[in-house]
Amino acid sequence: MKIETKEISLPVLKEKEVRLFIKRIDKIHPFVSGNKWFKLKYNLLEAEKQGLNTLLTFGGAYSNHIAATAFAAHEKGIKSIGIIRGEEHLPLNPTLRFAIDNGMKLRYISRSNYKKKTSANFLEALKNQFGDFYLIHEGGTNELAIQGAKEILDKNDIQDYICCPVGTGGTIAGIINASNDQQTVIGFPAIKGFEQLEKDINNWTNATNCIFINDYVGNGYAKINKDLVVFINEFNARHNIPLDTIYTGKMMMGILDLVAIDYFPKGSSILAIHTGGLQGNKGMSERLGISLPLE
Ligand SMILES: *Cc1c(COP(=O)(O)O)cnc(C)c1O
Repeated sequence: MKIETKEISLPVLKEKEVRLFIKRIDKIHPFVSGNKWFKLKYNLLEAEKQGLNTLLTFGGAYSNHIAATAFAAHEKGIKSIGIIRGEEHLPLNPTLRFAIDNGMKLRYISRSNYKKKTSANFLEALKNQFGDFYLIHEGGTNELAIQGAKEILDKNDIQDYICCPVGTGGTIAGIINASNDQQTVIGFPAIKGFEQLEKDINNWTNATNCIFINDYVGNGYAKINKDLVVFINEFNARHNIPLDTIYTGKMMMGILDLVAIDYFPKGSSILAIHTGGLQGNKGMSERLGISLPLE
């Protein structure tokens, strides 16, 4: 698959003699956007192999993973069930509306029950209620997802640094596994605190060429401020590349800040992975009454 990579031109990059490229995996599919497509790829094949015609997964009310799973299941002609954290709010937000339009059955559970969602008892109760299903965990990370994410990089991706936003870490694990040891993979966590994440990454990969930079997460997961919104809109106006508020916007702000403070040596090149997430901008802009690029 050919994925578009575009070079970004900005005065600060020229001044610092650093080249920045963005790999638009957000464009590979209009709805199963970005990294979730790669993460689901081998899981869908595995569900088929096991003869299971229902996917069940978990997520918050604005989850990219919920939207992607609903669409992917619909496209494959199988059923999907989404276990959603928190109460139902009507009218449905654009993410959940989209999930339902793609045939996903939604079930809401309290935040306290949501924490127990992977316990054997809880899963057993779900099986009693819905019948057999292929389970995909929140965020979609497992061995098969990491195998899929490895395909995000190809032989043309020879930059010195590869930057990727990080949630559960499955995507960056695949990228690390696909990178060579001359390259440095930089993760920009979207969630505060990443000790567990570092342990997970050590289990999923055996590379040592990865670092996490936690300075650009702001006030935490899905917390946004005016600077970020302004940045995203300016970036889109200038480069015609929409970024999302939870993952790619914060990463790109981080990369450009690191360029400005001479983090990257002169002459080096950076590849930023645009992991997608744009479906979330709709809900975010409705909820906060702000304007964001939608596609
Ligand atoms: C889910 C998601 C991520 C995080 O992926 P993980 O594999 O959970 O680390 C990054 N970017 C976007 C746009 C996402 O939707």
